[in-house]
Amino acid sequence: MTKFIFITGGVVSSLGKGIIGASLGKLLRARGFSVAIQKFDPYINVDPGTMSPFQHGEVFVTDDGAETDLDLGHYERFIDTNFSQLSNVTSGSVYQTVIQKERRGDYLGATVQVIPHITNEIKSRIIKAQKHFKPDFQIIEIGGTIGDIESLPFIEAIRQFKTEQGIANAINIHCTLLPYLQTSGELKTKPSQHSVTVLRSYGLQPEILVCRTAKPIPKTEKDKLALFCSVAREAVIECRDMKSIYEVPLALEEQNFAQVVLKLLQTEDKNAELAEWRSLVERINNTKKTIRIAIAGKYTKLSDAYISVVEAVKHAGYAHNVKTEIKWINSEECIDSNKCKELLGDVAGVIVPGGFGVRGVEGKLNVIKYVRENNIPFLGICLGMQCAVSEFARNVAGLKDANSTEFDEGTPYPVVDLMLEQKNIKGYGGTMRLGAYDCHIKKGTKAFEVYGSTRISERHRHRYEVNTEYIEKLKSSGLEFSGMSPDGMLSEIVEIPNLDWFVACQFHPEFKSRPERPHPLFMGLIKAAIK
Ligand code: GLN
Repeated sequence: MTKFIFITGGVVSSLGKGIIGASLGKLLRARGFSVAIQKFDPYINVDPGTMSPFQHGEVFVTDDGAETDLDLGHYERFIDTNFSQLSNVTSGSVYQTVIQKERRGDYLGATVQVIPHITNEIKSRIIKAQKHFKPDFQIIEIGGTIGDIESLPFIEAIRQFKTEQGIANAINIHCTLLPYLQTSGELKTKPSQHSVTVLRSYGLQPEILVCRTAKPIPKTEKDKLALFCSVAREAVIECRDMKSIYEVPLALEEQNFAQVVLKLLQTEDKNAELAEWRSLVERINNTKKTIRIAIAGKYTKLSDAYISVVEAVKHAGYAHNVKTEIKWINSEECIDSNKCKELLGDVAGVIVPGGFGVRGVEGKLNVIKYVRENNIPFLGICLGMQCAVSEFARNVAGLKDANSTEFDEGTPYPVVDLMLEQKNIKGYGGTMRLGAYDCHIKKGTKAFEVYGSTRISERHRHRYEVNTEYIEKLKSSGLEFSGMSPDGMLSEIVEIPNLDWFVACQFHPEFKSRPERPHPLFMGLIKAAIK
């Protein structure tokens, strides 16, 4: 029987509810329980795929091609489980289903309303995921802050669901922030108390409070929180700012977070297998050497826009016992090639990540030219690979002004072009090549060296592809096509054999990197960068 754990947030947004939920998932997994997760996002977009990374950070992609909230990435990395379309629920997708049903006549005769139609649809999403994953525990995080108008249908659905499940089968963990007042040297609990009051006004009583704080919470303040928020004393959990997010599960374990959850859900505790995770954290904290990796993209002002890339770099660094420092390079600045040289002078490796739109592309091409000519380890991802192909076409294969038709429809050499299936697609939502596809790897290549296999599967999110018509020309100029789709039609990995590490892929390897299992392509980059 599945037990349900709802996570809400109060006081401010960006509290790290995702990390707290993922940490709980980790602690339960470490005890041998199976865990499924869901992220409920109250916005009207059907999925975050149509949102700017500046608004929402990275769009995480699952094996089955769901474009999801970046928190799902944290959940997959911490819990080491692949989630799915069922894991990401937005108001937009809920309303879409209800309105489709209404048009079909499923509710014929009824006035379709938020309660019960929208709330029932939300509850049915919980059950659908439960039926699919059949987990011991299902963690459901509700995006936003309690009191937001748009999250109300979700909160009401949870209230009903909790009541229907009964105590011991569903609990609510409320995450808050304790602000620290420098002048009086105090941590303040009042905003947390207020946010619990708001939660209660919707009929939800939290069973556990997790409080984000920059300082240790004194006993008196914990007592106060327990008393005024009506939670058990042991259920006031401190979540201090940590150097690494991977320390959070261990810090929570020390306070018996999982035990408190299990007790409330009347489930017997089991031994937690955390040795590997502990040694990971030890390695994170004890590495001395630092290497600098540049990420040249256009959303560099918001590091969340590339969060999985950053985490994947770190994972590979941990495995090689080096700290990785990210140097953010705004690709637009690299349009001036002197500036590009200046910016890349002190880095050990360079990543050109995925992206959309022409802004900054010529700068990315300059970055790639520089790393190719100076044999600086390079990993190109998705748009990064498309740029690497254009750069190689222009400057090595002699195809002047070669480009992707995404950026120049009139280019004389469209070395990157829309896939055939994409040409007739009109809408923008969920219409890219999405999710996991197999790829065949050629023996004797760098890709084969790191993957150690001829058949891999990786996640995609793009519309454009390397134009097959130019493959022969590029090959004869020295570009190796080391990964192809199994039918040999689509280029998935390219590399330059005589450079230390110049590898680019059409898929997003970062989505499959896990702290305990770093991704082979990132391992290759970091290994070369250390050298
Ligand atoms: N804009 C490119 C495409 O649509 C690359 C997408 C990406 O980097 N995710 O193919």
